[in-house]
Amino acid sequence: MSRRRLTVTQFLQGAVKAARSAAAPTTSASTERLATCMSCPSIDREHERCLICGCPVRRKVKLHDEACPIGRW
Ligand code: SF4
Repeated sequence: MSRRRLTVTQFLQGAVKAARSAAAPTTSASTERLATCMSCPSIDREHERCLICGCPVRRKVKLHDEACPIGRW
């Protein structure tokens, strides 16, 4: 897996999404999304962060208005 650095903007966008999702419940849809992310070649598994959008995936998957940037969910 290739690693790439996040831009400051990507990091901050991820932080905002993390804050928004803090109170969001886990659903069957978010569980499926997380499984997809965890098997994706574009994830930093150590930090559970998408290498394309920079989002913390464990939180991103809980937001209904979010989508995978490459259409995997
Ligand atoms: S959001 Fe999409 S591209 Fe990013 S880790 Fe999840 S499945 Fe992969």
